[in-house]
Amino acid sequence: MIKINVDMNKCQHYGMCVFEAPKVFKLNDEDKLEYLATAEDSELGNVEAAIDVCPMQAIFIVD
Ligand code: SF4
Repeated sequence: MIKINVDMNKCQHYGMCVFEAPKVFKLNDEDKLEYLATAEDSELGNVEAAIDVCPMQAIFIVD
């Protein structure tokens, strides 16, 4: 499993990450980001892509 943390003080809820890893990130009905704190290893590539596109550099993989 991979552990994911998003710095919600940085996140501006643009949703770029949702396109890269839709199983992990989503925008809720209020257009606020929600995400899974843990995800399957198979999501690693998608999460890394989300990290790369996040304009606020708010997404981290936690060891
Ligand atoms: S791409 Fe970054 S700033 Fe945008 S919603 Fe995702 S974590 Fe937040």
